[in-house]
Amino acid sequence: MNLFGTILLSWYQENKRLLPWRDTQDPYLIWISEIILQQTRVAQGYEYYLRFVRRFPDVKALAEADEDEVMRHWQGLGYYSRARNLHEAARSLPDGVFPRTYQGVRALKGVGDYTAAAICSFAYGMPYAVVDGNVYRVLARYFGIDTPIDSSLGKKTFAALAQEMLVKEHPADYNQAIMDFGALVCTPQSPGCMFCPLAESCSALAGGKISALPVKQHKTKQTDRYFNYLFVRMGNYTLIRKRTEDDIWKNLFEFPLLETDKDYAAEEFLRSDALSNFCQGHAETLVTPLSRGVKHVLSHRVIHANFYEIRLPESEAEKEFPGYLRVRLDDLDNYALPRLLHAFWEKHAKKDSDTCRM
Ligand code: SF4
Repeated sequence: MNLFGTILLSWYQENKRLLPWRDTQDPYLIWISEIILQQTRVAQGYEYYLRFVRRFPDVKALAEADEDEVMRHWQGLGYYSRARNLHEAARSLPDGVFPRTYQGVRALKGVGDYTAAAICSFAYGMPYAVVDGNVYRVLARYFGIDTPIDSSLGKKTFAALAQEMLVKEHPADYNQAIMDFGALVCTPQSPGCMFCPLAESCSALAGGKISALPVKQHKTKQTDRYFNYLFVRMGNYTLIRKRTEDDIWKNLFEFPLLETDKDYAAEEFLRSDALSNFCQGHAETLVTPLSRGVKHVLSHRVIHANFYEIRLPESEAEKEFPGYLRVRLDDLDNYALPRLLHAFWEKHAKKDSDTCRM
């Protein structure tokens, strides 16, 4: 066993985090936990995981579920393509049987090298090394490697090194150990070098390069988008639509949206053609700004959101609104909304609608 692996394994025995998906070798449960944790911190993902597997305890239950229900159980986790891929992958498995080979696992929709290695090592004890952000950081610092981790050479170099360092007799524990170590000790900012068991042989510590490693060559480019949401109130009814386009939040529900090319001041927006077109044909329309300047950051986009309330007489709820669903406010929790809208609904509108019903 190499020194690096030996030290990590003994650190892990003392410091491992007790997490529900660590007590199982069920590949389905491990798959769900790994997909949830891909873009979500452990503390945040924990409750979601429990709720998700309580409702969908195995491949069959997930495959047979309605997509809207799957999305509703994912609501709040973001990166909704993960939920769609999980659902599609579950539906692709004959008789609900999870694959037993690395190639079979890797072929599942939404499963990349990292997830396949995690599932195969944790569930089946197969010798595949995981490489995620934590692993890149620990390896880059400990071995002092400045090849950019997002270059093709970097990916190859780190994948080969990770595989070389893997303790083949204990692949599950080793993989968990290096990831926990990166999350708890060798953290992106202020790593705990003073009490680090690898400190004596760490290249970055010796060379004063901790904050310079790992190296990334590209910064993620973000684009700004300006969303103006219309929260329509017709007594106890409102309007929503399903986002079916190939865009963020596909298959989630939202209030009527008017996207603009910049952030318009409220007075300007209230005078805009887009808004008057939306309100056309409806008598006694009262539009009020509810919440403005809400910033919602996604991986590649920054959403600048404004919310307006449009009050219409309750009798308008009888009319047709092509492209929209008319739903009761007290039924809105049954529709999966993006986190931005869910937060708005919880904070502003829900309180107001509860007050109105009293
Ligand atoms: S000494 Fe510091 S930089 Fe090196 S592995 Fe330990 S925590 Fe990471």
